[in-house]
Amino acid sequence: MDFGRPLVSTSGIVTKSNIRLVPETHLGNDPLDILVCQSSNAAARDLFLGNDYHHHPSYSKDELINHTLYNELHLPPPRPTISPGDLVVIFESFTNLNFVYATPKACFSNRNGHFPHDDFIGKPYGCKVRSRNNDGLGFLYLLRPTAELWGRSLPHRTQIVHELDASMIVHNLNLTPNMTVCESGTGSGAMSHCILRSIAPHGKLHTYEFNKVRADKARVEFEGHGLSHLVTVHHRDVCGKMALLKKDTDEQSKETEENKETTDDGKGGFQLGESVAHAIFLDLPEPWLAVPHAAYTLQQSGRICSYSPCMEQTQRTVVALKHCGFHSIQTVEARLKEYYVDEVELEAPPTDLSGIPTQEDSSLQKERCVSGGVLKKNDEQDVNVEAVGDNEVEDIENVTKKRKICARPFAQMRGHTAFLTFATAGNYKTKSNEEDKST
Ligand code: SAM
Repeated sequence: MDFGRPLVSTSGIVTKSNIRLVPETHLGNDPLDILVCQSSNAAARDLFLGNDYHHHPSYSKDELINHTLYNELHLPPPRPTISPGDLVVIFESFTNLNFVYATPKACFSNRNGHFPHDDFIGKPYGCKVRSRNNDGLGFLYLLRPTAELWGRSLPHRTQIVHELDASMIVHNLNLTPNMTVCESGTGSGAMSHCILRSIAPHGKLHTYEFNKVRADKARVEFEGHGLSHLVTVHHRDVCGKMALLKKDTDEQSKETEENKETTDDGKGGFQLGESVAHAIFLDLPEPWLAVPHAAYTLQQSGRICSYSPCMEQTQRTVVALKHCGFHSIQTVEARLKEYYVDEVELEAPPTDLSGIPTQEDSSLQKERCVSGGVLKKNDEQDVNVEAVGDNEVEDIENVTKKRKICARPFAQMRGHTAFLTFATAGNYKTKSNEEDKST
């Protein structure tokens, strides 16, 4: 992924909020420019360093650094062409996305034909590639991976957070570059990719998954996408129920068999220390058990989001949030209404208005527009609307029609995904927190 690629170092330094200190050695000769730059540098230092900044040996006296400042690093321009090992999203159709890691001599096949990866390597992202068989009639498009496209093409190991909910979550958690974020469970890693893009280039995601196979798989994927420096996958039960699971049924015993290499102490929580995370995202069956740990790990005013499909889960989570001193608690449900573009026949507007009935004229009810057309005799009707007589239908059909491009909503809307509960952390650090449990 582009946001995980090695950064290019330049001469300046930036704050966590990407505010840049201008090296005063490069200010030029204009006295006004110099004054403005010096004043803004001073303001940036005051805002972000307070009075406790110190000189770093490797920087000039104008390039002050402490934990809130970084070397100025930029993403290099996007790689123009596909290289061996690159992740490529394959567009087969609007509803079908797939992916490959471009590998010399490997071949991607689908019902449209065979597509050797060698035909991908060296091509620009976005290009169309034709099948080697079927007379080249089969084709696909090679897309540059983004968090959204990865979410639509990734191998689902669990239910995942989809684009609409993910965007609500990123927005309402106030995620910005260089934040420290905790997430549990990792699942298929779809939400992790969205979080990672928001906190790059210097942020850190700690993601927790108690299923070892999923945790390992996610680690390998992050590595393959060049994101390892931004994320740590913890094989851990954040709710602290692992110990109980060990005693339970056969199936659960199998799960713990998978989990036997864990370093999990069974106490739950994030094990990062107190007040270290800027935001926490929970996608767990029992999020309320993780809430006291989240209260301990979150900085004051840090944001939390819990994603639950059922209202009962949401209610229990809200009670736990209130109990642990969270405020500004809000639950929302987002629905996606997608549109497609279609060509439809529309009547040309009349040029002579004299024959047009007035609004009061009851005959207006006879010509009721339904789904882009004009009501005809056999169309379904609401009460109070008469069918149009045969002769009138003919008249209507004789009216000049024009083909127009228009946007229409899909007849079906994706149903309920989850309730998203957001809240802001207070300064509550008490008994049920990790510190007390670990002592
Ligand atoms: N948000 C993920 C995504 O977008 O791909 C999907 C998460 S999935 C629905 C829930 C995951 O939480 C599962 O992989 C499950 O193994 C994990 N999980 C459930 N309880 C857990 C716990 N107490 N600690 C850590 N992980 C847990």
